[in-house]
Amino acid sequence: MLMAHVDVVPADQGDGWSAPPFDGRIAEGFVWGRGALDDKGPLLVILEAVEELLRQGFSPARDVYLSFGGDEEVFGRAAAAIAETLAARGVSPWLVLDEGGAVVDAPLPFVPGRAAMIGLGEKGIVTLRLRARGDGGHASAPRGHTAISRLARAIERLNPATFPPRAPQTIARMLAVLGARAGGVPGVVLRVLASVPRLAGPVLARMGSEPAALVRTTLAATRLSGGSADNVLPSHATATLNLRLIPGDTVGTVVARVRRRVRDPKVSVELVDGSDPSPESPADSAAFAALRAAVGAAFPDALVVPYLMMQASDARHFHRRWPSVYRFAPLEMSAAQRASIHGSDERVEIASLERGRDFHMELIRGLS
Ligand SMILES: [Zn+2]
Repeated sequence: MLMAHVDVVPADQGDGWSAPPFDGRIAEGFVWGRGALDDKGPLLVILEAVEELLRQGFSPARDVYLSFGGDEEVFGRAAAAIAETLAARGVSPWLVLDEGGAVVDAPLPFVPGRAAMIGLGEKGIVTLRLRARGDGGHASAPRGHTAISRLARAIERLNPATFPPRAPQTIARMLAVLGARAGGVPGVVLRVLASVPRLAGPVLARMGSEPAALVRTTLAATRLSGGSADNVLPSHATATLNLRLIPGDTVGTVVARVRRRVRDPKVSVELVDGSDPSPESPADSAAFAALRAAVGAAFPDALVVPYLMMQASDARHFHRRWPSVYRFAPLEMSAAQRASIHGSDERVEIASLERGRDFHMELIRGLS
């Protein structure tokens, strides 16, 4: 099952785009535009591979399904409906591959070379609403806490220490693979961290925001509202929190922990929606070996590295039912390109699209 999605997030040329975001401009060896990496590029390379193999009259050893959702970015129903339909037909995919990791440079500081990051699992996601109550009144004589200052205090209490860092099994596996590549002192350090996951959490948490997000449940306040007039003390204020859960946490445990940290009877914590982290797919299966072989053919210098995907994807509707779900788009993405996803100047290298097509052709040809 090869998955992608056709929808994209909005883009406004005023937000720093150097070309119109929906022109699909081809320049400097790249295709520029919203969706180039997320997720039309990955979708295109699946289609190119399948069409090329059909043109050659190739018949795969297993059925190959293509699953293209149209509402991934709004957590829509399309992929869920596809998974339900497959289950109702008694289809049980041997391998599911959806967006996620990519081919990147130096996945961690001190680890040279390129890596194909294949997500064995993905973090859970929870949306919470904090509602603070306070005494209203005239702003000329404030006393005690207003709803806004209570809310500010609650958010301040929910600092990164709310969730202690802890390395899931997939991350220990990732460190072991990277440690074997790194050599020297960094290699030794990574191998030690891999074998002592209790140490790996705190160390990665200090290495920057991306490594930190691999080893901890993160929490970000994303929306804020309160007050009705410039000169009136606010009696209500609300904030929205977005949490991403590492394996081992659940919706229930993080809600309980947020309530304990806020510890204010006048601030309520309400669960808006949530999904638990995925199970971790195996890295020693035949399906994973097929991915590894396809990476080897299309990106011969890239080390295959299992990792934990930080975003939620359509694949979550599949991992609930089937054990072999992986998250990898066979495209090269520099740090700047990764930042352009959901940002400005999203772009994909044309040569990379060709290698992505080769990856899928190899994957389909290699099925047995
Ligand atoms: Zn996407």
